[in-house]
Amino acid sequence: MNPLPSPLFPLYLQILLRENAKHNLTAITGPEEIRQKHFADSLALLDDDPCILPPHASLLDVGSGGGFPGVPLKLARPDIALTLLEATGKKAGFLRALAEELGIEAAVLHARAEICAHEPAHREQYDVVTARAVAALPMLCELCLPFVKPGGVFAAYKGPRENAEEELRAAANAIRILGARVERVHGESTAYGGRTRIVLRKISQTPAKYPRNHGAMTKKPL
Ligand code: SAM
Repeated sequence: MNPLPSPLFPLYLQILLRENAKHNLTAITGPEEIRQKHFADSLALLDDDPCILPPHASLLDVGSGGGFPGVPLKLARPDIALTLLEATGKKAGFLRALAEELGIEAAVLHARAEICAHEPAHREQYDVVTARAVAALPMLCELCLPFVKPGGVFAAYKGPRENAEEELRAAANAIRILGARVERVHGESTAYGGRTRIVLRKISQTPAKYPRNHGAMTKKPL
């Protein structure tokens, strides 16, 4: 693994170890595993493509939980404007405290993506949207693509490549309806535990009716 690109990672690790039990942030509790499976995994997108985050890009991390992958990306790239979206109040509270303790600028939204994505302040406002371990790809696309500016990208952090390809097949309809196309699947090597990053490029506006409410998305995925 490359050295972690900010002296703030050890502090982030300490905070996670201290707060995990209170906030149920991660099932991973060993320091080395946290470095690999949270920090390095989050940063893998920058190794895939150092240009994926243009200078001063706006980045929204949907379902950020303990801050992944958004916070490691901000530590590596302090120039980006980071927003973290989290449905659970306790976790959103953790993320606010985390940003303060790390001394980083990050907006934290305590909201559900399917509601927030209809607000003009957030709809199609972000250059890059990320999400890891939030939902299966068809629903994840519906939750995340409405936030992406046309021309911007959505990077879905996923499991091993075979599963990513299966998910892509299942999500082909959703990707088309929501105004995106598949740009790349990164992570064929096992350097990051065999995980993959599916990068979708937004090529047109998302129809206004998406995302639908949670029940409709679950009952009838696109
Ligand atoms: N992304 C983090 C990671 O990779 O460690 C957290 C993953 S955790 C399994 C999923 C998180 O997504 C939870 O914190 C959950 O509250 C949040 N979440 C799930 N559905 C959401 C939604 N519709 N809107 C916002 N957050 C959501």
